[in-house]
Amino acid sequence: MSTYDVGIVGAGVHGLTAAYHLARRGVSTVVFERGRRAGGPTGQASGVVRAYYTNRFLAEVARDSVAALTGYVRTGGLYLHTAADSADAGLEHEVLTAAELADRFPELNLDGTAFGVWEERAGYADPHATALSYAARAVEQGATLLEHSGVCQIAEGPRSVKLLLDDGSGHEVDRLLVAAGPWTGPLLDQLGAAPPLSAERHVVAALRQRPADAGRAVPYVLIDIQHGYYSRPARPAAGSCSGPWPRPSPPTRTTSAPPSPPPSTTGSPPGPHGGHRCAGGPRRSAGGRRCTTSAPTGSR
Ligand SMILES: Cc1cc2nc3c(=O)[nH]c(=O)nc-3n(C[C@H](O)[C@H](O)[C@H](O)COP(=O)(O)OP(=O)(O)OC[C@H]3O[C@@H](n4cnc5c(N)ncnc54)[C@H](O)[C@@H]3O)c2cc1C
Repeated sequence: MSTYDVGIVGAGVHGLTAAYHLARRGVSTVVFERGRRAGGPTGQASGVVRAYYTNRFLAEVARDSVAALTGYVRTGGLYLHTAADSADAGLEHEVLTAAELADRFPELNLDGTAFGVWEERAGYADPHATALSYAARAVEQGATLLEHSGVCQIAEGPRSVKLLLDDGSGHEVDRLLVAAGPWTGPLLDQLGAAPPLSAERHVVAALRQRPADAGRAVPYVLIDIQHGYYSRPARPAAGSCSGPWPRPSPPTRTTSAPPSPPPSTTGSPPGPHGGHRCAGGPRRSAGGRRCTTSAPTGSR
């Protein structure tokens, strides 16, 4: 059985970032990933980078995250609000009246828009490349990254946490970070600590610009709160990648179950270290279709 100071479940951008920062501080760290690094929602994400949120906590966390990013494509971001909204919680942004919007963005249909917010620092990154960079740097700093290593059982002891993997191997860590995205709830459920998470499916489309439309693509991040979508350019004036804006509608699921729930481990052996295998094997990704057809290259 291997032992580490910290075990991380999930090699998405959060797990890999944590692994990098721990490893560079000399903490012995292992990452368990049931598929491949960045193979979950991280690899499917649109990569919009922004710090304007109407929730102050989110705005502050996002501001610090944006500050940690280097090399993302800065396009600016425009948020279209209805009269029911307020824009008081953003940190660095410019509020625009309907008249100012019409003047600065004549390409937009602004029916129903009461005001807008322009965030100069918004843009987009390549989430897959970002996560792969963190993975490479974490391994360079001494972290162990175990791909195709799904964690199926977690047992908390007085001083450590024991993990059983799908392949039957056992591992022991002093501290555990579960960064398993939409699958975090069911894993933590084993410890009676499931967070109140819900998962949603989003439709994502990659649009290629026709030559006849040259110059008409929206070259900045656009979030239309009234109509429930967002878009970003794939590269300057080359098309857009868009998806529905997560409006505060009732979630499609109200439990912590992910879109493709893991197979039940009911009936599997008692503890992580009885030398038994967990039920089930690799599971499929929760993400929607990947927006790759016009994804930028070399950007983060
Ligand atoms: C379509 C789409 C568009 C998005 N657009 C944006 C955007 O524009 N801007 C933005 O900031 N965010 C966006 N997001 C959100 C962003 O992708 C996520 O917030 C982020 O990638 C989550 O990273 P993570 O590391 O927490 O988890 P994930 O990327 O979900 O990674 C979790 C990992 O855990 C692994 N795992 C799960 N269970 C186990 C297990 N039992 N054992 C081992 N490994 C396990 C999975 O295989 C997966 O690789 C978008 C997401 C989607 C799906």
